[in-house]
Amino acid sequence: KEQTHGETGSYKTTCCYCGVGCGIVVHKDRMGKVLVEGDKDHPVNKGMLCSKGMNLHYTVMNTSDRLLYPEMRYNKQMQRQRVTWDEALARTAAVFKTFINKYGPDSVAFYVSGQCLTEEYYVINKLIKGFIGSNNIDTNSRLCMSSAVAAYKMSLGEDSVPACYDDIEETDCIFVAGANPAWCHPILWRRVEAAKAANPNMKVIVSDPRVTQTCSMADVHLQLNPGTDIVLHHAIGRILIEQGDIDIKFIQQHTEGFEDYSHAVMQRSIAEAAQICGIEEYRIYEAAALIGNAKKFMTFWTMGLNQSAAGVNKNLSLINLHLITGTIGRPGCGPFSLTGQPNAMGGREVGGLANLLPAHRDLSNPVHREEVATFWNGKELSPRPGLTATEMFEALNDGKLKAIWIICTNPLISMPDVRMAEKGLKNAKFVVVQDISNRLETLPYADVVLPAAAWIEKEGTMTNAERRITWLQKVTDAPGEALPDAEIICRFAKHMGFNGFDYNSCEAIFKEHAALTAGTNIDINGVDYTLLHQRRSVQWPVNTSNNYNDTKRLFADHIFHTKSKRAKIHGVPDCNPSVQPTANHPLILTTGRIRDQWHTMSKTGKVNKLKQHIAASFLEIHPDDAAERGIADDDLVEITNTNGNVRVKAKISTQIKKGVVFLPMHWGKILNDDSNRANNLTFNLIDPISKQPDFKFSIVQVAKYKRP
Ligand code: SF4
Repeated sequence: KEQTHGETGSYKTTCCYCGVGCGIVVHKDRMGKVLVEGDKDHPVNKGMLCSKGMNLHYTVMNTSDRLLYPEMRYNKQMQRQRVTWDEALARTAAVFKTFINKYGPDSVAFYVSGQCLTEEYYVINKLIKGFIGSNNIDTNSRLCMSSAVAAYKMSLGEDSVPACYDDIEETDCIFVAGANPAWCHPILWRRVEAAKAANPNMKVIVSDPRVTQTCSMADVHLQLNPGTDIVLHHAIGRILIEQGDIDIKFIQQHTEGFEDYSHAVMQRSIAEAAQICGIEEYRIYEAAALIGNAKKFMTFWTMGLNQSAAGVNKNLSLINLHLITGTIGRPGCGPFSLTGQPNAMGGREVGGLANLLPAHRDLSNPVHREEVATFWNGKELSPRPGLTATEMFEALNDGKLKAIWIICTNPLISMPDVRMAEKGLKNAKFVVVQDISNRLETLPYADVVLPAAAWIEKEGTMTNAERRITWLQKVTDAPGEALPDAEIICRFAKHMGFNGFDYNSCEAIFKEHAALTAGTNIDINGVDYTLLHQRRSVQWPVNTSNNYNDTKRLFADHIFHTKSKRAKIHGVPDCNPSVQPTANHPLILTTGRIRDQWHTMSKTGKVNKLKQHIAASFLEIHPDDAAERGIADDDLVEITNTNGNVRVKAKISTQIKKGVVFLPMHWGKILNDDSNRANNLTFNLIDPISKQPDFKFSIVQVAKYKRP
């Protein structure tokens, strides 16, 4: 029976953590208590949940840390006071109008999140681009996915993941590059484990400077030096070409750029590549042989490639392996970037980034700008790309940006060179924080605080990593006066005097978004909540032309979305533009996730059970590097560089490469002590195309910490 919120019973929704997008059933009892279990009917997880998903109910049952009422202050010296929604939004609108009139529309910005629902992303994007007249909207997905987005567009002509999860059970070989899905995308990895158990001939290759849980299933682990991924991918490409393990017919008929690529990969011998990567030569041959012998080949990757100053080139060099072997657009094949956040894909569908427009339209294309402006019936769209994530905080620092509205993200833990971001917020003339938690590090800087509804307290849709759109049902009311994010933005738009935000339901927003996709490559025109409820989920494009059937795979016809209709093979340079180690800072720092925490712990940090796995931050360091510095296991160590320092306990491990150290990215301030915040040490260096930060390569020194 379909439930409406407020009733006891079972509700179907989707996990709000990673981009795997597992289906969840929320059971609600007469006391209003909720309990979650995996949805056995959901095609993604078939009833399974990982440790984070199965403990989700604890994050909503405990409301002691929730923001309950709007708050506001009139100047930076005041304490914020509780106010009504109208007072908070009227004042915010007045301040925004003042800045826009005095300094222009680019003086204000929205910094949002891959956790926002598609409808929320849609109205925020419409507001800033279509009515305020600026493209200053960016998202923490910039820190996560933007290199993959740029590479897909450059190679396939479209920001589109061509494969689907069902390909896991079909493939012969998976290459996991710079990712640890066993910890970060656990349910997807369980499907890989089950597929390998069912098919002993299936092979798994992993490239990672650390021996992670994912490596335990690898037939070949390439423990490469950080920053050498392109050299490795090129070496594999060279062997495939030299061994004749490429698909000449596919290359000739459906691609361009092979000659340049061939020239690029021949520049280094395999021996030289092996030496640069810090791996044995025969290992590269082994990996190439597994790929060359496979009829069906998939790649999975995440932050090890994306979070880099050469992130786009790393992505392109991996996608090239599919284009030269013709392993794309058919079952068991394809490049597959895994998303860290639950709705990074949905945010891109509505164009919720500084350089995008709805339905994957291009901001630089005047026809596309005109189409969107006409549809929205607001202002002419600005051709100027907006500020990206790190650029926003730099612009606050230099005074070009006056006001920032931060929604559902915690930049004072997650931004690179986080003290630069902190300086930006201190310098900002006006800061709005719209969130659920009263423990966020951004709150001391907020002039206006807007309490938002959390997961299961609102409805809407999300799109997971395989282009699957699912509807999230509202289960329970938000505490206090908290409101759904979309409603907050629509109320604000009315205070600004804008028409076009009078939606009578969340579904009305979704239908408008769907209509704007009509005729595009991601067409979902005609999809509504009724269809989503009946089908549980759909994979775009899904529309009248395919009788609303899911599109499991893209490019099955091998017609790509480039101008020439051919996929582009890019012979990219293999250099690493990161800041290189020095005598003072000889170690390479890489940061990442642990199994049971997510992002900046504003949700998972509330669940005691999730602290049982790893309770505190730590520095993983090789025994040789530790011995050189007189460091023993569990010693308190200080990690330093020109940006800042971090103090945590050492975990000596042979599972990390000598010369490399690892810090988890989750921890931040505890009682005003920010000494365990990994981003004190990361650099504000970005990929020139995707503008994604270089989180995976900073240089540091480590020493045993002597208490003063
Ligand atoms: Fe949630 Fe991801 Fe775990 Fe699935 S794998 S339950 S989506 S965190």
